[in-house]
Amino acid sequence: MIPFIDLASQRARIAGRIDAAVARVLAHGQYILGPEVRAFEQQLAAFCAAKHTLANANGTDALVLPLMAWGVGPGDAVFCPAFTFAATAEVVPWVGATPVFIDVLPDTYNMDPASLEAAIAGVRRAGKLKPSVVIAVDLFGQPADYPRIAEIARREGMKLIADSAQGFGCTLNGEHPMHWADATTTSFFPAKPLGCYGDGGATLTNSDEDLAVMRSFAVHGQGTDKYDNVRIGMNSRLDTIQAAILIEKLAIFADEIRERNAVADRYRQMLSNMVKTPTVIAGGVSTWAQYTIEVDDRDRFAAHMRDAGVPTAQYYPKPLHQQTAYRAYPVGDGGMAVSDDVAKRVISLPMHAYLDEPVQARIAEAVRGFVRAGA
Ligand SMILES: *Cc1c(COP(=O)(O)O)cnc(C)c1O
Repeated sequence: MIPFIDLASQRARIAGRIDAAVARVLAHGQYILGPEVRAFEQQLAAFCAAKHTLANANGTDALVLPLMAWGVGPGDAVFCPAFTFAATAEVVPWVGATPVFIDVLPDTYNMDPASLEAAIAGVRRAGKLKPSVVIAVDLFGQPADYPRIAEIARREGMKLIADSAQGFGCTLNGEHPMHWADATTTSFFPAKPLGCYGDGGATLTNSDEDLAVMRSFAVHGQGTDKYDNVRIGMNSRLDTIQAAILIEKLAIFADEIRERNAVADRYRQMLSNMVKTPTVIAGGVSTWAQYTIEVDDRDRFAAHMRDAGVPTAQYYPKPLHQQTAYRAYPVGDGGMAVSDDVAKRVISLPMHAYLDEPVQARIAEAVRGFVRAGA
């Protein structure tokens, strides 16, 4: 079986550097908030032109921390795409606020600004909730339409979070999502484009005040010293060992993004006359967390690929507004027709920075076999 994500090739490339970095942490023994954590925070902020980074325990905590810092709670509406990973919306009820689902665009699968505007108008008309925050997602690695979404958020007096767990490192017109967002969040889950060897996450901000409040929330609501608690917080830190690993991975990340784009270009050349290949927003550079195509008869396609030794994955077979846990929450005016449709059709092919042309040719051959059999 061809690997779906090949972490072993990346490991082979930098094994010596990672092992040495971990050994340094074991030698100094500062496992919690050791010097590597601050060093990594600074490097990550520099990488995507943010003023500050708060490293934390995972990409879900990374999303809730800005909501906590802004005092989002009961009576607030937080607008999220329906077609995303559950974590995007999950943090909203955590703080007592209400997620309102937004439809996505049929070409990029990212938040549809027109659906967002309709949903905000609907919430204002209903008069029960206050539109407070938009969480845009860089689904499968490509930037959301930040110029339009940020303009809507600003006009409506709302905050904007860029959930860049899949798209960290992506750009639009040469700018990172942080250029438009009040906070950018990411996850270092191992399979994400920038992953560690366990769980980890980060929240980026340009605000000194938001940074200070989020840091406090992430360490039990700490005040001026360790045993001064000024707010109800949580414990959400990135381990020093993971920070040490991430410093080595970040050093090759720009190169890996280039390689991922080369892989995506080759896939497009090999596949675009057979299946619907991805569309990236004009001016956008994706980090290609996933290479997602559309097919009719997806289950038969997946079985055919499996028989040919090619793993596939379905992100996401059920949009959030249809999930048991989220069904009761409002959907934006205009409905979720695109999310409902693409959730039935999308399927992702192996994707990582070390996927070479001969292996891609084998994958394309398997796709060709399926298309031919159907013709
Ligand atoms: C992975 C992911 C998260 C959550 O990250 P964890 O580190 O697993 O908590 C949030 N949003 C999106 C879009 C993701 O893909």
